Amino acid sequence: MHEVKTPKRPLIFYYIIVMLILALFNFLAMPWLAERQIKEVDYGTFMSMTERGEIGLVEVRASENQIVFTDKEQTTVYETGMMPDPDLTGRLYSSGAQFSGQIIKQTSPLLSALLSWVLPIVLMIAVGQFISRRIARSMGGPNAMMFGGDKSGAKVYVQSSDGIKFSDVAGEDEAKDNLKEIVEYLHDPSKYKEIGASMPKGVLLVGPPGTGKTMLAKAVAGEAQVSFFSMSGSEFVEMFVGMGASKVRDLFKQAKEKAPCIVFIDEIDAIGKKRDGGIAGGGNDEREQTLNQLLTEMDGFEGNTGVIILAATNRPESLDPALTRPGRFDRRVPVELPDLAGREAILRVHARKIKVAEDVDYLQIARMASGASGAELANIVNEAALRAVRQGRQVVTQEDLTESIEVVIAGYQKKNAILTDREKWTVAYHEIGHALVAAKQTNSAPVQKITIIPRTSGALGYTMQVEEGNRYLMTREEIEAKIATLTGGRAAEEVRFGVISTGASNDIEQATKLARAEICQYGMSDEFDMVALETVTNQYLGGDASLVCSAETQSKIDARVVELVKRQHEKALAILRDNSAKLDELAKYLYERETITGEEFMRILNS
Ligand code: ADP
Repeated sequence: MHEVKTPKRPLIFYYIIVMLILALFNFLAMPWLAERQIKEVDYGTFMSMTERGEIGLVEVRASENQIVFTDKEQTTVYETGMMPDPDLTGRLYSSGAQFSGQIIKQTSPLLSALLSWVLPIVLMIAVGQFISRRIARSMGGPNAMMFGGDKSGAKVYVQSSDGIKFSDVAGEDEAKDNLKEIVEYLHDPSKYKEIGASMPKGVLLVGPPGTGKTMLAKAVAGEAQVSFFSMSGSEFVEMFVGMGASKVRDLFKQAKEKAPCIVFIDEIDAIGKKRDGGIAGGGNDEREQTLNQLLTEMDGFEGNTGVIILAATNRPESLDPALTRPGRFDRRVPVELPDLAGREAILRVHARKIKVAEDVDYLQIARMASGASGAELANIVNEAALRAVRQGRQVVTQEDLTESIEVVIAGYQKKNAILTDREKWTVAYHEIGHALVAAKQTNSAPVQKITIIPRTSGALGYTMQVEEGNRYLMTREEIEAKIATLTGGRAAEEVRFGVISTGASNDIEQATKLARAEICQYGMSDEFDMVALETVTNQYLGGDASLVCSAETQSKIDARVVELVKRQHEKALAILRDNSAKLDELAKYLYERETITGEEFMRILNS
């Protein structure tokens, strides 16, 4: 699909206008200014010029106590003070000077007013306008300062055969099925009209960032071969109250003219946030007006006009209920993180654009990249291609892909990070601790790779675990095994060195989160049974949990969480003490090699 942009006037256009104004000013005002140039001389010079007969015109301004005169050629105007000199007139006469009433012509009052203040003001306004437009443009939106301007600034894509199609969006089959109906409607609205069915006016795509929501919206337009208007919610929010609303109006006006078409509003939560009823803070007026305008526009057109509004958000719970009620965004299409098969398909779609070795095992890569979004997978493939180029190869290999997963997850290898020998040993034991505890608990996923090469993200090493298939449920035992694995790093340091380091901070955070969720969200404790003690907000953005219980219960929960983590920590310590010979052997092996695979690990463990 091709984006069509409204042509901008080049900068040179404005320069020419300013230059023209300046030239005009020179042309009109300069001669007059030159005329006004008066040279001041002393009385002696005046006397001697009189004696030499060099005076052309002369004017005695008795009221100002001045004499104004010119030379014979009348090119220069002079001025001098008057002295008591009764013979002056006679001498001037005999020198041949002519007496004049008005050497300096008074300019017309209109012209002088024009030149002295109208022109500068006009110039200042013109320059001011020019600068403010430039600023407005650089602050986003070409018409930010044009009140009631007639362009919404939406990106417009026109139909073309090379647009994004559903086949470019891998996985996400449910979302695609859902949207296919809309494509069908745009193809043949009469079929729907006959039976009296009207399409939903708005479809809300919800899901975590980078899962292909924008792509899906574009694919709908591409499949239906209709125009596509795209605008981000944040682009509506303007500096001045009323501007956002006018942008919404213009967007819908344009869309109706181009119907059938798709209007896509990305990050609709930027304007569609719940309106707070209470004190009307001035800061929210603009957003509210924009939202109201959007609601009005959506109500204003019939379901059969052929304009379909798609919107994307990753915080659906924060949207104003008015926006999600029937008749507006009444259809909600979840766009979730891809599962194993989805990840494999996405990798394959993106691998089509690069040269890949024949023997690449996409399934294996997809397994390793568990939890990655479509955007991250696209990034992984691109990083792999870049790595291949860096190493002077023609095709991307399996190794490039595995390494790039680590780059995307943990950052680049930090070649120049120098760990002391003691630190390196600590990291080796820490990582082996995690892996050993994981392997010894039957419910833990096997390890894929362990490395102690520092990464730019700050990780000094990590253990990559791989889930075999898709996991939708976790048992209580599995959660607790995971907590034990997380504490395994610190436990190994304790078992071997008897001292503990700061390296476990991330583990601690994750273990606590899991333990808290087990008690508060999953109802897995005897004490609280199946009582919801926490609600999750922002489920697509990491899932912040907020407690919904009394302060008294809170302190009890805290005690339970500590108890749970402690129990798992002790379990990890016991596992490592029981296997301390293996711990040493594996840590030494890792220390020497810096990166070991899951197979090597298991071979040593089972030998
Ligand atoms: P969102 O709008 O959900 O944040 P985007 O649609 O902008 O995500 O996706 C960003 C990029 O990620 C896309 O340009 C594409 O390269 C890649 N991507 C995401 N999901 C998919 C998918 N399902 N199939 C193929 N590529 C995808």
